[in-house]
Amino acid sequence: MTLGQKQRLFTRLTGLLIEFAYENGYELTYGDAYRDPRAFGQVGEKRLYSSSNSVHKSRLAVDFNLFKDGKFLTSSEDHRTLGEFWKTLHPDCCWGGDFSRPDGNHYSMEWRGRK
Ligand SMILES: [Zn+2]
Repeated sequence: MTLGQKQRLFTRLTGLLIEFAYENGYELTYGDAYRDPRAFGQVGEKRLYSSSNSVHKSRLAVDFNLFKDGKFLTSSEDHRTLGEFWKTLHPDCCWGGDFSRPDGNHYSMEWRGRK
């Protein structure tokens, strides 16, 4: 799969994640999706708050802000229902709640070892 094919698949799958969230009583707003390398640095380069190898720089990650009953849910554990669903959509789907430093609002697809 090329990077472009994976980016388009990622975008489609995020649509399914959004639908799943709303069907389960959650609401979402977008946090970071694409992080433009002109601002955040090329892959491997650390600039601003982005990690140097972030897949946000490759259009393969989105951070969602999660709400239920109007309340902003901020913990990684709050995202678990969505994270577990996300991982069922494709073998390359990764959820930030599984990272060694949990990042529960981060939904991504693996690309060349980067998540
Ligand atoms: Zn992220």
